[in-house]
Amino acid sequence: MNKRIICFYALAMLIILTFVTPLGLSQTQYDLLLQGGHVIDPKNNLSGVRDVAILNGRIAAVAEHLDASTAVKTVDVSGLYVTPGLVDIHVHVYASTGERNSYAGDNSVFPDGFTFRVGVTTVADAGCAGWRNFEDFREHIISRSRTRVLAFLNIVGAGMRGPNFENNLADMEVAPTADMCLRYKDLIVGIKTAHYAGPEWTPVERAVEVGSKVGIPIMVDFGANRPERPTSILWTEKMRPGDIYTHCFSGIRNELDDSGRLNPAMSAGRKRGVIFDVGHGGGSFAWPVATEAIKEGFHPDSISTDLHIGSMNAGMKDMLNVMEKFLAMGLSLDDVILRSTWNPAREIQHQELGNLSVGAPADVAVLRLENGDFGFTDMYGARLRGTKKLTCELTVRNGKVVYDLNGITRPDWNTLPKGYRQTGDPRWDAVTPRPVIPPSK
Ligand SMILES: [Zn+2]
Repeated sequence: MNKRIICFYALAMLIILTFVTPLGLSQTQYDLLLQGGHVIDPKNNLSGVRDVAILNGRIAAVAEHLDASTAVKTVDVSGLYVTPGLVDIHVHVYASTGERNSYAGDNSVFPDGFTFRVGVTTVADAGCAGWRNFEDFREHIISRSRTRVLAFLNIVGAGMRGPNFENNLADMEVAPTADMCLRYKDLIVGIKTAHYAGPEWTPVERAVEVGSKVGIPIMVDFGANRPERPTSILWTEKMRPGDIYTHCFSGIRNELDDSGRLNPAMSAGRKRGVIFDVGHGGGSFAWPVATEAIKEGFHPDSISTDLHIGSMNAGMKDMLNVMEKFLAMGLSLDDVILRSTWNPAREIQHQELGNLSVGAPADVAVLRLENGDFGFTDMYGARLRGTKKLTCELTVRNGKVVYDLNGITRPDWNTLPKGYRQTGDPRWDAVTPRPVIPPSK
């Protein structure tokens, strides 16, 4: 072989190594790449157009440009908002027992039908189960749902089963409640006290006792509004920093004073570190309270639904609907996303959630923000008009697509072989995850 031929081969090899190998022979780096969306990730102070890459169920990269050829699946999400999977810390999802008129039964809903379609990937059940029935709840709901279900354990051992149970001080036991929390540290994020009708402080005090023992917050639905135990004392003395007051804009427990201004004890509680959560529900959100609070700059720490059969078709529709209400009252989308992701994740001490940091579980929502003429109703059926509406286009849970409203991850049917079957790939798809089957003859 003469010198010129050797030179030619050497040059050819150089060209191949330089250009062809990185493109043609390189391994894919990512399972799923969401390209060109406006990413809102409040934990990381990020609000701008970025690509988000996912590998093995975790966020692998967030950058201004990531090469589509490095991913098994690339999805164009330009014009849409990409946020951490929404975290709804007040829901009721202990369906399955068949008990009537009970939140440990028929008043609850199965989570998966209400979560992914609105971008929610994590919920915390707000006290449907106590220590006596938590393991049944875990067996029948938590372990069988694709939604990540966490729980506030009710201070009442029997859970949220109606007044006969919930007013029984004898069933509010510290030791067995604390034991159950320690046994299921990964699932139980707090202690719930709710619906108490009596004059005593006992339910709150017992809940705080467990919370302090285990190192978790309590969530308070303060029940009947009794002069013997006013909310002003609850916020400024009884609750600890990090404890969560839910239903904060209901107005039925002196959230407003007689002049219609926000009760100064709310702000005093917030200064102490008490958390104020929306918990909209069927009877816990009124425009006069919410609009006054926002006017005075008192934004909720977290936005939550209080989803149950009595709220799901009433003033409260779903998580996005409650978020839209705050857009309608003038909060920015970044503010609303903060209160639906990173804030609630911190409140329940799950800092691995509610953000898109590299290494975080890849729970992601892709949302469309529309402008138009929309209306939003409160617990009394009064309307407030707004111009912004959110729709969930895509939900990713643990790195896999679990909801895709308009098929933006899917191929057009008429580009597929005749007799096509499942189109997905299990590396990114949990909707139709079976491998492609060769077309039938
Ligand atoms: Zn509730």
